[in-house]
Amino acid sequence: MKTKLTMDKIVNLCKNRGFVFPGSEIYGGFANTWDFGPVGVELKNNVKKAWWKRFVQEDPTTYGVDASILMNPRVWEASGHVQNFGDPQMDCKQCKQRFRADTVVENHSKGSVSAEAMTNEQLEQYIAEHHICCPHCGGFNWTPIRKFNPMFITSRGTLEAEAEKVYLRPETCQGEYVNFLNVQRTARAKVPFAIAQIGKSFRNEITPGNFLFRTIEFEQMELQKFCKEDDSFDIYDNYKQRALKFVEDLGLKSENLRFHDHDKLAHYAKAACDIQYNFPIGWQELNGIHHRGTWDLSRHQEYSGKSMLYTDPFTNEKYIPNVIEYSIGADRLTLALLCQAYDEEELENGESRVVMHFHPFIAPYKVAVLPLQKNLSDKAKEVLQLLSKEFMCDYDEAGSIGKRYRRQDEIGTPYAVTIDFDTLEDNTVTLRDRDSMEQIRLDIDELISYIEERVKFN
Ligand code: ATP
Repeated sequence: MKTKLTMDKIVNLCKNRGFVFPGSEIYGGFANTWDFGPVGVELKNNVKKAWWKRFVQEDPTTYGVDASILMNPRVWEASGHVQNFGDPQMDCKQCKQRFRADTVVENHSKGSVSAEAMTNEQLEQYIAEHHICCPHCGGFNWTPIRKFNPMFITSRGTLEAEAEKVYLRPETCQGEYVNFLNVQRTARAKVPFAIAQIGKSFRNEITPGNFLFRTIEFEQMELQKFCKEDDSFDIYDNYKQRALKFVEDLGLKSENLRFHDHDKLAHYAKAACDIQYNFPIGWQELNGIHHRGTWDLSRHQEYSGKSMLYTDPFTNEKYIPNVIEYSIGADRLTLALLCQAYDEEELENGESRVVMHFHPFIAPYKVAVLPLQKNLSDKAKEVLQLLSKEFMCDYDEAGSIGKRYRRQDEIGTPYAVTIDFDTLEDNTVTLRDRDSMEQIRLDIDELISYIEERVKFN
């Protein structure tokens, strides 16, 4: 049975089952921050592992880095963030709520208008022409649109007077651009090659967060492919397809995914596209694929005074490569996977269950070990010790076996191993499959290879 999925259902499950808790909850929370709990941290780590495996491990032309969050402030001048980065902000004079004008326009047009590259004047004109009212109070009394720079500022230095203004990075990619030649030289990489990174970014977001969808601190999984201009559009198309295949392989259904090509581009961009997912809040950006031309490396060459030229080892031609960027939020993808996995099923015996149908690779626990009765716990702990050398495992001996299965269903554990009195006699256990709920009898010695085969991500 497919019931209508709401964000509230996901938030409640996450809080109650240890996926995600509100940030600083005992102090009344802290808007748009969330803490991953014991189950959630496993899920998100597995999502990151899957991305790294697919795009770094399995691609010999991609090299990983882990760059600093705090960078020389000149980086953000070169990138344009100090002068130009900004969300168009407007306030409703009636209810005093603050909004991002581009988001208001996109939501009003149900995603048919791409407002990202609109100027403030174009946004104001669109809002007036379409008489877009305040989504909160319904009034039509807007302040003019102003630019709001969402970079968080901190400082370094011991004395306030000497303190140097430093920014928390609003995107991870600059750490990849500034290391372009370091990586190229040490990895002896030849264009086309990519630099990839997973790391935290920070944005002082002004629009409501919608749980993990938009937070002020989030992780990005990004790669920049450095290439010749002649190949760049083929590589751009190739990443669109690879990005789509990745999220489909992780379990997002194709009917909930679509490409959204940008019709208005940033002045340096040659093409841009999002993949959107049909979240309970509607179709929204899941990731971006951008053709950034030579903009980033040229700007760093200009601002640092250091050459960013690549020398072709065969022709000796020197040039600044084009960049294709692929960027996806780990938290936003985790939210999409939570939404996709959620199901409420009616069972043949009239009961119902909530089950998270995660791809086994990303499931927080691969297997739960459950002694049928407490006096079987010694044997069960032996099995747990064996399995936990290979997999993240859960152990539960509290309550009826049916209730324990339900608990594992709600956190998406693909396999449950039950130890009963026969186990003591013949070294076999019952293995229950989360999705089909079918049970088979297996020898303990076969467990690891049986599960290993079924929890891979290829
Ligand atoms: P949006 O239009 O939703 O603000 P963006 O176009 O600014 O996103 P990018 O700068 O292209 O996003 O960032 C790449 C990816 O990082 C996004 O596709 C998204 O998955 C993720 N991301 C961006 N901002 C946030 C945020 N505040 N919270 C969580 N994830 C984010």
